[in-house]
Amino acid sequence: MQYKESDLIYPHDIDAADSYAKKAIKTLDEGKLAKTPNNFEVWYAYYSKENQDVINVLDSFLKNKKKASEAELHEIYTKFLSDNRTEERVRKAGDDLQSTINNVKNVVAGVKSSTHEYRGSLETINSRLSKNPSSDELKEVINQVKNNTQQVITRNESLEVVLEESANEIETLRKDLAKARKESMTDSLTGLSNRKAFDTEIHRILEECKKEKISFTVLMLDIDHFKSFNDNFGHQVGDQVLRLVAKCLTDGIKGQDIAARYGGEEFVIILPNTELAAGVAVANNLRKIVANKDVVNRSTGERLARITMSAGVAQFSGVEAVEELIGRADAALYTAKHNGRNQVAAAPTPINKSA
Ligand code: GH3
Ligand code: MG
Ligand code: MG
Repeated sequence: MQYKESDLIYPHDIDAADSYAKKAIKTLDEGKLAKTPNNFEVWYAYYSKENQDVINVLDSFLKNKKKASEAELHEIYTKFLSDNRTEERVRKAGDDLQSTINNVKNVVAGVKSSTHEYRGSLETINSRLSKNPSSDELKEVINQVKNNTQQVITRNESLEVVLEESANEIETLRKDLAKARKESMTDSLTGLSNRKAFDTEIHRILEECKKEKISFTVLMLDIDHFKSFNDNFGHQVGDQVLRLVAKCLTDGIKGQDIAARYGGEEFVIILPNTELAAGVAVANNLRKIVANKDVVNRSTGERLARITMSAGVAQFSGVEAVEELIGRADAALYTAKHNGRNQVAAAPTPINKSA
């Protein structure tokens, strides 16, 4: 990977960066918070005044004399720092690609104009030749043709080199762009689709199903008492649990189904071509897969608590908007929680009067 000078410009001078970093570490120390890169970055962004959203949230904590917990720092990071970065990368990869394409266009335009010049000079030579030139004139004309032709050959050779290099660069940039786009749609902790990708996908599927008059079902799943899991075993173990649950979900669904991290410890699954009862069965299956997992502390081998999940299931009514459908799945999830957790509840499907 080649970096341009402009990529490397650092926003602060060394002394300022040193002081922000020290303040960030001190704050993490005082709060007894893990010095992970993400936690550090949140406080660094605060002290360096780089990100106004981060400043606002943390100022409101300081105002209320409350310390931001690890989970809260995590939320701030995902909300205001990591997403911005992936979007910025997509934008930059697109800009780089465009500027390379523009360079090629300029080179080609240059060649076009020099070819035009060459034609012009051949025409001049042609007219000189048709006027019965003396042998000296003839020599001069021949030399001119030689020089002009040599110039064109040299120019074309360097053009070939430029085009070859540009083709390689464009290929690399195209891959960078595809990678950045993919990352901007992926939740970095679990590898599932992120909220943004889910929002795009569900709107697309809903419109398609409305048009084709086919059904699909949505599952909202939420880990039970996850907060106490974090409190008892620490936020990093909490993160491992989120990864484990995400893996159970992807392993437990089929090809065209889509699983996404909706936020925090909440997941959402879209089951295309699926009716409510089948959706409930899938949700129960996923719930059981998760409930049967043993969560083991990797470093001590100690067995930690079991994880359970609750789920709400809703089938697309055929007419409703995305927000209503999600709202019904959410309400069913709330029922499942209310009825004792580790269970699935189904939302009644409103009668579609236009059908
Ligand atoms: P309930 O059974 O009612 O769902 O209870 P709960 O504790 O699971 O729900 P609550 O909404 O009270 O707490 C969710 C917690 O999830 C709060 C937050 O600390 C934690 N959390 C959110 N995102 C993350 C994350 O990315 N990593 C970790 N480790 N914890 C997270
Ligand atoms: Mg929960
Ligand atoms: Mg929740």
